[in-house]
Amino acid sequence: MTRVAVVGGGALGVTAARDLAARGAETVLYERDDLASGASGRAAGIAYDAFAEDIDAAVAERAVERFRNLDDEGAIDFVDHPYVWFARAGDERRAEAVRESAERMRANGRDVATLAPDEFADRFPALAGVDVAVAALARDAGYLDPASYVTAMGERAESAGATVETGTPVRLADDGTAVETPTGVERFDAVLVAAGAHTKRLLACVGVPIPMKPYRVQALVTGPVDGSERVPTCYDASESRYARPREGGLLVGDGTQEREFDPDDYDESADPDFERASLAWLETVCEDPLAEGPLGSDFAVCRSWAGLCTATPDRDPLLGEIRSGLYVATGWHGHGFMRAPALGERIADEMLGGDGIAPFDPDRFDGDEAFSVVEGMTVED
Ligand SMILES: Cc1cc2nc3c(=O)[nH]c(=O)nc-3n(C[C@H](O)[C@H](O)[C@H](O)COP(=O)(O)OP(=O)(O)OC[C@H]3O[C@@H](n4cnc5c(N)ncnc54)[C@H](O)[C@@H]3O)c2cc1C
Repeated sequence: MTRVAVVGGGALGVTAARDLAARGAETVLYERDDLASGASGRAAGIAYDAFAEDIDAAVAERAVERFRNLDDEGAIDFVDHPYVWFARAGDERRAEAVRESAERMRANGRDVATLAPDEFADRFPALAGVDVAVAALARDAGYLDPASYVTAMGERAESAGATVETGTPVRLADDGTAVETPTGVERFDAVLVAAGAHTKRLLACVGVPIPMKPYRVQALVTGPVDGSERVPTCYDASESRYARPREGGLLVGDGTQEREFDPDDYDESADPDFERASLAWLETVCEDPLAEGPLGSDFAVCRSWAGLCTATPDRDPLLGEIRSGLYVATGWHGHGFMRAPALGERIADEMLGGDGIAPFDPDRFDGDEAFSVVEGMTVED
């Protein structure tokens, strides 16, 4: 029997561990804190299949399918909710990018519509405050509590026979297929490093460089807002900010800082400037003068936080074998949670002898490339 280790109990790691165990591998998952204590527990929980590249679209479609399957089983609550992204009037450069991305998504079979300003206003009166140039609407979309997915998959990993070791920080040893735990060294046929922002540091200890930089992003949830469910999941491409309903209020995100952060030394609370700018943005966007009544304008922060996303030079993931028996899964550019059900499945398959995803092969880089961090949610591909 193949003996494998997964380092990292985030959305990617628990998915891979569950799928490895379900396919008969003797699997151990190591998580240094609790499951979902990294970026996955801090994510906004937005999921959609609206990607312009064919492989991304196929991966996202499969991921949404798996979220829906888990919802059918009663393990998570996946709320179907449209995702709309838009450029504001006068921002012709981004308007063109919105049109072009929607076209490419349709070419990949995605259920994506392009909306003129009057169609947008009719369809989304809760966003009446925005003067859009153009919008695009993805119907195969929804949201969920990200930690609930990690918990559900962690339980499924254990039911499938995996050992889940939380509270267990590990280091790689030897050629990377040995794992040093607080109690000793364990050897495996294959090791997957899915340690989020710590992935580069772990691999560096066994002399494997990867071109990945953690960068900081922020989010907040407002207090209750009447009619919050009328707000679609939305991304304002001109202002680089997004929102979705959450817990009776609205979750607002972005505040991206496009530079490298130390995963062991960054501020996990949101900046006051981010909070102020997000509330001001909400007030301009969610103004509803139409018949359904005002959405409410006294938005207040209920809680807020920051977390780390992971960037690569070409904005594609690093997913695959990087040295014999040693696998890596990172570099999601802010889209790791929504793709984890499919990417975890694909890396588990590759570890058991299947083909990887060629465009995501980590061997496409030497590991020492210089590059700048570019935020994940952007229409300027
Ligand atoms: C504010 C915010 C909002 C976001 N919103 C979305 C969204 O709506 N949709 C979306 O798709 N993505 C979103 N993201 C991005 C998403 O959170 C990540 O891409 C995704 O969760 C990464 O999952 P992961 O499993 O690769 O990493 P992580 O969830 O970071 O998991 C890695 C785990 O490894 C563990 N670990 C680290 N070092 C060790 C070690 N030495 N030994 C053992 N364990 C170790 C960590 O404790 C951690 O639990 C958001 C991110 C943030 C911060």
